[in-house]
Amino acid sequence: MSKRFKMEQLVSLCKRRGFIFQSSEIYGGINGFWDYGPLGVAMKRAIESLWWGEMVETRDNVEGLDSTIICNPKIWKASGHLDKFGDLMTDCKDCKARHRVDQMEDPLKCPNCGSANLTTPREFNLMMKTYVGPVFDEEHVAYLRAETCQPIFADFNLIRISSRQKLPFGIAQIGKAFRNEINPRNFTFRSREFSQMEMEFFCAAEESLDWYEYWKNERIKYYREKLKFSENVLRIHEHETLAHYAKAALDIEFEFPFGWGELEGVHHRGTWDMSRHQEFSGENLEYFDQDKSIKYIPTVVETSVGLDRTMLAVLCNSYDEDTADTKKEGQEEDKRIVLRLPEIVAPVQIAILPLSKKLSDKAEGIFKDIRKFYRSEYDVAGSIGKRYRRQDEIGTPYCVTVDFDSLENNTVTVRLRDSMTQERISADQLKNYFTEKFTK
Ligand code: ATP
Repeated sequence: MSKRFKMEQLVSLCKRRGFIFQSSEIYGGINGFWDYGPLGVAMKRAIESLWWGEMVETRDNVEGLDSTIICNPKIWKASGHLDKFGDLMTDCKDCKARHRVDQMEDPLKCPNCGSANLTTPREFNLMMKTYVGPVFDEEHVAYLRAETCQPIFADFNLIRISSRQKLPFGIAQIGKAFRNEINPRNFTFRSREFSQMEMEFFCAAEESLDWYEYWKNERIKYYREKLKFSENVLRIHEHETLAHYAKAALDIEFEFPFGWGELEGVHHRGTWDMSRHQEFSGENLEYFDQDKSIKYIPTVVETSVGLDRTMLAVLCNSYDEDTADTKKEGQEEDKRIVLRLPEIVAPVQIAILPLSKKLSDKAEGIFKDIRKFYRSEYDVAGSIGKRYRRQDEIGTPYCVTVDFDSLENNTVTVRLRDSMTQERISADQLKNYFTEKFTK
């Protein structure tokens, strides 16, 4: 995969077609921040709702949460983020580049210019700081959350009691997280503002390794079956060194064009988080098991994935340039760029394309029906070949073409993105046709 295409090709497509571009571009951008345009936001929401459906809505033992970005700063004291959430960084005195020491091949040599003239490595905290209230002093300092899971731990009792859940059960949240990354890079892979999709599963210590295995398998199945990642683009990286409280930890890695990178972490967190929040808040966070008549602090197994990273991985996995016979669709070029996106996350699932403006009435009628069920787009501008090319580039799996025969016999052509084959079907059958396609 890494040699198939260059990251710049995808970055350029994302900008050209309105998926993702630099935040505040007219001011020169801001490093580590990205905006999602019309197609980007549609795709991002589709991924988000796929994850939510998979992790919350189809399970009886996982509850949802939407907590605030700014929390009581004591949360971050308890979690350890204020005291130790950072990386060692060093500056090159010659070329002024800044590096994370753990990412340097040789910590004594600047990866940018090769100079050995580096500053002594310094600790750098990744939490983003702000002030709450009108006074900008230390008493009013607050932080933008660095991960979405800590409020889950803090809200555990409220959620358990209101949802009447017994252990084992999980709490999931999707939301923004902020990290003052030293070196944002590789497009959205490492950003300073990003979204996480996290699920914390609370259970008894003796069952926790079984749950860890269970969630690991569930998550791999999700990538294979729902996002259609083949075996060769995913790998598991078991952590060699574990935090003192953890019994196991692994990363699910994806092969990006710039190399293998972490997509998701599945972590056994022991009782660390819950014990710390109990200690710092003074609230009793123990669980009373009525069947066994015992009290204990729940052990946590976590699945944690970036929404932006998932989207980047899906885009990378889908990007293709093929030499299919595009000439027959009226093109001079015999090459096309195509995003082979899974139907479920494609920003446009069906495009309705009338061959001529004179067919608008008929085509608009079909469009209005279809858009009730699928993310759809209506496009009447330009030659049909150009319109197919655009739909290929944005990953639309199906185009419905309305032509003059459609007026005569109420049939339309469905054109498939991947094979570029066309089928003639009755317009009345479109709904059944797509129901079958989208549920297979
Ligand atoms: P890394 O080692 O890459 O800095 P991490 O191990 O600190 O990541 P976690 O804290 O485990 O990452 O975060 C869970 C998930 O959140 C990651 O697997 C990734 O998908 C996502 N994530 C973390 N940091 C970023 C970031 N700066 N930009 C985009 N997504 C991120």
